[in-house]
Amino acid sequence: NLFLDRIDRLDGTLNSFITVDRARALDAARAADARIATGSAGPLTGIPIAHKDVFCTQGVLTTCGSRMLSNFVSPYDAHVVELLGRAGAVMLGKTNMDEFAMGSSNENSHFGAVRNPWNTDRIPGGSSGGSAAAVAARLVPAATGTDTGGSVRQPAALTGVTGIKPTYGVVSRYGMIAYASSFDQAGVFAASAEDCALMLSAIAGFDPRDSTSLERPAEDYSLALQQSAAEPARPLAGLRIGLPEEFFGDGLAADVRAAVEAAIEEYRRLGATTVAVKLPNAKLAIPAYYVLAPAEASSNLSRFDGVRYGHRAAEYGDLDDMYRKSRAEGFGAEVKRRILVGTYVLSHGYYDAYYLQAQKLRRLIAEDFRAAFTQCDVIAGPTSPTTAWAIGAKTDDPVQMYLSDIYTIAVNLAGLPGLSHPAGFGDGGLPVGLQLIGNYFDESRLLGTAHRYQ
Ligand code: GLN
Repeated sequence: NLFLDRIDRLDGTLNSFITVDRARALDAARAADARIATGSAGPLTGIPIAHKDVFCTQGVLTTCGSRMLSNFVSPYDAHVVELLGRAGAVMLGKTNMDEFAMGSSNENSHFGAVRNPWNTDRIPGGSSGGSAAAVAARLVPAATGTDTGGSVRQPAALTGVTGIKPTYGVVSRYGMIAYASSFDQAGVFAASAEDCALMLSAIAGFDPRDSTSLERPAEDYSLALQQSAAEPARPLAGLRIGLPEEFFGDGLAADVRAAVEAAIEEYRRLGATTVAVKLPNAKLAIPAYYVLAPAEASSNLSRFDGVRYGHRAAEYGDLDDMYRKSRAEGFGAEVKRRILVGTYVLSHGYYDAYYLQAQKLRRLIAEDFRAAFTQCDVIAGPTSPTTAWAIGAKTDDPVQMYLSDIYTIAVNLAGLPGLSHPAGFGDGGLPVGLQLIGNYFDESRLLGTAHRYQ
């Protein structure tokens, strides 16, 4: 009730929730109380959470931030929803997001922009901006998100919370509405790495319903956080942090650079050593992503045809006209732009020139990381080149919007895990995030490193 009351009081301004289901939350809370009373509770039992509205929830609206799905109620729960429910977490509602997870500012939502709790004239980042803003404003202690090109890490950075996206394949995508399937990965937001570890432990693990889910033993990410250090004063002794020069170049705002460098200094005090590494192809991550992700999106979004579910135009002539009108009305401008780009790069005659070239870049970028990880254990840098910008500042310039993900997207192209944690403040008291990138399956190390810093 405490959190539901905070939502009632504060979310009129923030707009971080699309749906709040009070009755269902109170039922789940009572069930959690009963479990606690019988001694069968886990660490998440009774903890209020929110799910990004990209996750299907049985009996509760799942809109994906789109008019297309504004009336859609899923007949089943996403894997992530099911597992957190089983762990006893209490879902309070579904959070706002950029339509179909396409965006970096949460301004592409059919349900309106989300405001940043640190300064309500600013964006919270995207596409999981609702989840990030809700955690930052303490409307929920933790929330889920998805990260296709940075959508967990970038909003975590801009709202001053911790967010982690695991290695591709660690969390099942079953019931997570697809944007770009070879990049999409669920992640979590919380106030600390410790809380993120509890959430991630609950949702990670093999699921036969997702063909890219990896068959590996389940991990308890909290264990790494509990281990005591050999040198208590220098708990990170032995850790080699790689600093890619490409992440500290011209595009980085001075206030973000200063905050990130101060945080790296703190890492050195904690015992870590730093080494310069190179990611020469990282600059090509944005062009590669904006070929590959729209290509996959154009295929994934073809299922929204007004026939089986979602929005259908009220008036139409023949079947083709019904498809056309339903999609014209149901999708927003950014989604249409990406479907057009995607079908173009996949079309006969352009496929080799764009799609295949971008696949090659993807490979080169993954190779860069592989080489860098021979010299270091984790890579650190800024999560976002700037702090949160003003609402409306980039809405007329998609390329400027795309460039805001310059440090996060390469990680998705390679399928690596990434975490963003708060690293002080920039101009105007706006939060700055530091990104830690790990080798495949090194989530524990990322969480442990952030935990020692925090
Ligand atoms: N901002 C990026 C985009 O617009 C990434 C989005 C995401 O990770 N879902 O595609």
